[in-house]
Amino acid sequence: MALLVQKFGGTSVADADRIRAVADHVARTRKAGHDVVVVVSAMGKTTDQLVRLAADVSSVRPTRELDMLLSSGERISMALLCMALAELGVSATSFTGSQAGMITDTAHTKAKILEIRPDRLRETLAAGGVPVVAGFQGVSTDREVTTLGRGGSDTTAVALAAALDADACEIYTDVSGVFSTDPRIVPEARKLARVSFDEMLEIAASGGRVLALRSVEFARNHHVPLHVRSSFTWEPGTWVDQEEESMEQAVVTAVTHDTSEAKVTVTGVPDRPGLAAVLFRALAEEHINVDMIVQNTSLHGTTDISFTVPGDDLATSTRVCEALLGELEAQGVTSDSDVARVSLVGAGMKTHPGVTALCFETLAGAGINIEMISTSSIRISCMIRADQAEAAVQALHAAFELA
Ligand code: ADP
Ligand code: ASP
Ligand code: MG
Repeated sequence: MALLVQKFGGTSVADADRIRAVADHVARTRKAGHDVVVVVSAMGKTTDQLVRLAADVSSVRPTRELDMLLSSGERISMALLCMALAELGVSATSFTGSQAGMITDTAHTKAKILEIRPDRLRETLAAGGVPVVAGFQGVSTDREVTTLGRGGSDTTAVALAAALDADACEIYTDVSGVFSTDPRIVPEARKLARVSFDEMLEIAASGGRVLALRSVEFARNHHVPLHVRSSFTWEPGTWVDQEEESMEQAVVTAVTHDTSEAKVTVTGVPDRPGLAAVLFRALAEEHINVDMIVQNTSLHGTTDISFTVPGDDLATSTRVCEALLGELEAQGVTSDSDVARVSLVGAGMKTHPGVTALCFETLAGAGINIEMISTSSIRISCMIRADQAEAAVQALHAAFELA
């Protein structure tokens, strides 16, 4: 008998039929003798609708109130799923993030989990029941409702699996696993049977939204095996776990793309030690995750610094930069949100030269200009125009024969 955490994403609980199908699967897992903790996302596109509603109501959206609003989506799903389980004779109890003991920091809309006190979930399990937890939310050390950032239900599920020492965390979604690229862009993409945590981290960080980045970090740090699979076909999916000696190391495992980033450029920055530190410290204090950074070689003692940030943080980032122009003695700030990052990820890249060359040749062959480049030991990313992202993904997927 195992303890399983089963997480169901938005499309998996999008309507009454889907919720009944999920309840049926949970009931079958219980009948097979396993203990189950369920984590649910908001139904369908509920979170997007709530974000839009907030924007329609006001241009001023205090993040505390946004969190109050957005956290309501998951509450709807958890209560409905418990009702569907009750009809099947399965005793289930819903819990908000706060009730489930998800303690976070105070960074509204992108809170980090600090501690988990899942006492009430343990009590429910001990009594033979199924705890159904609202994903994506917690309670801060200031006793406020917080959310964990978009896609955060994955993080809730993995964090609970770690805290409860579950045997596995099953992420049910609308595709049958992790593919060599987004199967919606390249229909012939290949389903991967297994992916290492390191590769999955790079895939998630570079836009392969099938798993939220934070959830993969959590899984790797706490050794939680993840099983990404379909809630439509219920077939075995992709295992994400520790790399083993015997694991085949493909040169390139996956191609990803991300159109949610934006580029900021601070122009005419004097080429002096310490100025970049001032700039990036100020951004860090606003909890902004900077990704690619390019600094031109200085001409006449000044330089331009370009970097990318999540699109949602663009307004804050430009405000931070503008406020620093005096202190930096810099000329100005420009921004550009029509950019996309395409990336190649593969653990075998470390030992195979030539991947970068083929990547650049492929993009050149497709008439795509590269504006910024960044690499890790197992990833190459290029910043390009947003409207060329899909063409770039298709060309790279074909060039590296990933189908
Ligand atoms: P959920 O609501 O279940 O959390 P998401 O929309 O967050 O689902 O994630 C699933 C989606 O991720 C898929 O529908 C697919 O379009 C997209 N995706 C992007 N890259 C990949 C990939 N490499 N493998 C599988 N799915 C991917
Ligand atoms: N409902 C949230 C979102 O859409 C969290 C999640 O689904 O993981 O981002
Ligand atoms: Mg998701």
